[in-house]
Amino acid sequence: MSEIKKYAKFSTLLILGAPGSGKGTQGKVLGSVPRFHHLACGDVFRSLDTRTSLGQKFIEYSSRGELVPDDLTVQLWRANIHQRVESHNFKPEIDFLVLDGIPRNLEQAELMENDIDVHRVFHLSCPDRSELARRLRKRALKDNRFDDASDAVIFKRFETYDQETKPILEYYKNRITEIDASQPPAKVLYDILHGVMQLPAWQEIAKLNV
Ligand code: ADP
Repeated sequence: MSEIKKYAKFSTLLILGAPGSGKGTQGKVLGSVPRFHHLACGDVFRSLDTRTSLGQKFIEYSSRGELVPDDLTVQLWRANIHQRVESHNFKPEIDFLVLDGIPRNLEQAELMENDIDVHRVFHLSCPDRSELARRLRKRALKDNRFDDASDAVIFKRFETYDQETKPILEYYKNRITEIDASQPPAKVLYDILHGVMQLPAWQEIAKLNV
C-alpha cells in the first residue's frame, strides 16, 4: 500500500455500462494493445479462492445481483493493482489503466479519487434491456457465469446498475464519451479508439519510443 503512493495517480480510462453492454469485451481488446493495461474488477473477484472469506462474500453478493461492500472492493482492487505494478505488468509511467467494473458507485469513485486520474469515461449505452439480457443469457451458458443464469438475478443487476452505478455519470460529467453499445463489437471498439486518440494524454504517450 505505502509503496504504491510513490507513483502519481494512474492515468485512467473508465469503461462504464450496464451488465451485458460489452465492457469486458472492449476492455480485453484494448488491454491487448501496447500502452494499455486492462483490469476488470469482476475478474479479480472471480479469481479469488472461494474458500477465503472474501471469496465467500463475492459469491454471496454477486449471486444476488448486488455489489460487494465498497471498502472490501476498493482494498482488493488496490492490492491487485499494486501487485501488477510490482511485477511490472502494469507500468503506470507509460501505460493507460483501462478499468471496467470499478468504480461502480459514488462511494467507490470517492475512495479511488487519490488513486486514479480519470481522463475519459466511455459510456457503453444500450437502452434496450432485452438485448442486454439476451447477451447475458448467452454468456451464462458459454462462460459458466452463475450470476447471469437466472432472469431474476439479471433483473436485479440492471436495477443495481440504475440505482448505484449510473450516478457515476454525473460525478464524471464533463469527461463522458457516449458510445452506442448496440453496434457490432468492432464498431464499438472503433468509436472508443477514436475517443482515446483525441486525448492529450494519449498523444503524449504515443510520442514515447519505448
Ligand atoms: P458485468 O461485466 O456483467 O457487469 P462483472 O463481472 O463486472 O459483471 O461483476 C460481477 C459481479 O461482481 C457484480 O455483480 C458484483 O457482485 C461484483 N462486483 C464486480 N465489480 C464490483 C465492484 N466494483 N464493486 C462491488 N461489487 C463488484
